[in-house]
Amino acid sequence: MTEMKGMTSPRAGCREIIVASGNPHKVEEIREILAPCGFAVRSLTEVGAESMPEPVEDGNSFAENARIKAVAYARSLGRMVLADDSGLAVDALGGAPGIHSARWAGTGATRAERDASNNAKLLRELASVPDARRSARFVCALCLATPSGRVVAETRGEYPGVIGHMLRGTNGFGYDPLLVVTSDGRTSAELSPEEKNARSHRAMAVRAMVATLGSRAFGQ
Ligand code: IMP
Repeated sequence: MTEMKGMTSPRAGCREIIVASGNPHKVEEIREILAPCGFAVRSLTEVGAESMPEPVEDGNSFAENARIKAVAYARSLGRMVLADDSGLAVDALGGAPGIHSARWAGTGATRAERDASNNAKLLRELASVPDARRSARFVCALCLATPSGRVVAETRGEYPGVIGHMLRGTNGFGYDPLLVVTSDGRTSAELSPEEKNARSHRAMAVRAMVATLGSRAFGQ
């Protein structure tokens, strides 16, 4: 494995993990929690792998898709890789959009355009659904794989709320402006990054991963 552009050696004592996601928000949320626990978190861009072909995510669950991504990227890069597969499950829609959350509305060239059309579709789909039946949750599955593609740990987190009637807040990404998560009625996009990381699905899954790993070495 050759050294890739932008790559720096992890600090002594830090265990390096590459987060296999093209979504900078996800990488930052994960880094905020893992860095203080002694992990050197790198994005695909930071290791020069942003244009690496993405594996086909043809699993039937968040966990299966996280495993597909972690194993494929870990083998290709020859490094420890953490993959996140996540999305929104809306009870009144039978759990949709679920694993199809990212491209649910099917339109938009950029991430911001896709988020906007997904949120517009969610408001349309729930237009006649009363408040009492608008419960939903973000779900995150994480998988950590060794350079040889062995799965070291898999965790899951959930972030419950209710779907609001209009977009509110500018923090976060995706469906954050529509999931009302606090008792005083704020959406996930109205929380500070610290507040979101204190309760989110991704934060719960990352903390469970840290607890599972403890101080043990990863091996091959
Ligand atoms: P993935 O990158 O294929 O896992 O797609 C995840 C999609 O689920 C994102 O594009 C968002 O639409 C949604 N999603 C996952 N996590 C979050 C979150 O923390 N906030 C808002 N939307 C999220």
